Amino acid sequence: MSNTKILGDTTSLSPRHTSEGWLNNLDRPRKAGPLLADHAAPGTGMSTVSIHAGTHDDPRTGAVGTPIYQASTFVLNEGQYQSVEEGFARDRFIYSRYGNPSQWAVQEKLAALEGAESAIVFSSGMAAITSTVLALVDKGAHVVASSDLYGGTYNLFNQEFPTMGMSCTMVDSYDFDAIEAAIRPNTQLMYFEAITNPLLKVIDIPRLAEIARRRNIRLVIDATFAPPVAMRTLEHGVDVVVHSASKYLNGHSDLIAGVAAGPRKLIDMIWPRLLNYGGSLDPHACFLLERGLKTLAVRMRAHEESAMALAKYLEAHPRVQKVFYPFLESHPDYATARRLLKNGTGNITFVIEGGDAAALRLVNALRIPKQATSLGGVESLISLPFNTSQATFTSRQRADAGIDPGCVRLSVGIEDAADLIADFEQALAAIYAKKEPAYA
Ligand SMILES: *Cc1c(COP(=O)(O)O)cnc(C)c1O
Repeated sequence: MSNTKILGDTTSLSPRHTSEGWLNNLDRPRKAGPLLADHAAPGTGMSTVSIHAGTHDDPRTGAVGTPIYQASTFVLNEGQYQSVEEGFARDRFIYSRYGNPSQWAVQEKLAALEGAESAIVFSSGMAAITSTVLALVDKGAHVVASSDLYGGTYNLFNQEFPTMGMSCTMVDSYDFDAIEAAIRPNTQLMYFEAITNPLLKVIDIPRLAEIARRRNIRLVIDATFAPPVAMRTLEHGVDVVVHSASKYLNGHSDLIAGVAAGPRKLIDMIWPRLLNYGGSLDPHACFLLERGLKTLAVRMRAHEESAMALAKYLEAHPRVQKVFYPFLESHPDYATARRLLKNGTGNITFVIEGGDAAALRLVNALRIPKQATSLGGVESLISLPFNTSQATFTSRQRADAGIDPGCVRLSVGIEDAADLIADFEQALAAIYAKKEPAYA
């Protein structure tokens, strides 16, 4: 395929498309993409896909890997003028907020990993979430959402929605009767998270999808805590999957990005919101995200290996009262996790003896995990709900949310399990030594 064809020539458009009003024809077959070139990954394994899908070796020089197309705008030809006139501008390069080759390459990789026809990258997870939600609801609409939402998404539904004439009912994601009961005639969207924070509940997505289908409502899932490799969310009947790509997808704690993936028809509805709200991803950040994604499969295996070993160690420790890790048999959603997840992740939540004061001493005594909010990076990160994610809650509200004093959130990186365990061993020994000396 020649370079000019890749970059927006019209020769691939049949005259039929141009004469019949391509935009207004809702029956027209929509193909996957947009794609930089007609190529598929040379295999279906998640590592092969994460390395090869979408990646676009420079056609002019043969340089391996997608170049960084650091351009705000593109030279216009007949094809681009026509695409604007006829409504297929998403398939041509015009201006980088609309689309850029660096975005297309990483979008294609993300779509392939999710098994989606199409994907759009955004400048943050929240940009992906707001653009997706607002594309799929009309004025006056009602949304049924999980009561365990990420704070930013909670604020979208609680603060922004009422000002736009929309409303949201938040429900316990385990309570399917309550979910059904919350649905109203104007409910257009169900919005849940695949794995919740901080208790790591694994939501029964196929059951939510069955309700959504039966009641003719769209289902959006935030799968930030369960990226592809761990879960192919769309395979469970979800309409659109969104992620904060700042977490596992990029995996290196060095950029903020988001993505929405699903059928081309729905992603084409989200794209105008990207243009209007302006959350497009910079080409250099696209390059970093694409590079991060190449190791997604090996990173996820390493996260599971280290997290599983550490979770078992913590579960056996006499000072640790509870451990939440979905692949531990003691987790309430172990069976759901085994059914829906193909790979574990790095998130562990646990509760130690001595409450929040002991938890504070623990995070200060650890040498490997850095005290930081966020998750999914190669380096372990640790934080406490009481002074970060649930800091605005009263102790009663924390108790109602199932968060006990002494609760610790840990995102296990890909450091060696033996080093992580040794670090927790020394830190736990140090913080309890003062209270109960060995000779006592
Ligand atoms: C971090 C996060 C977000 C927000 O993503 P940003 O990239 O920070 O905008 C949304 N949902 C979940 C579950 C997250 O963890």
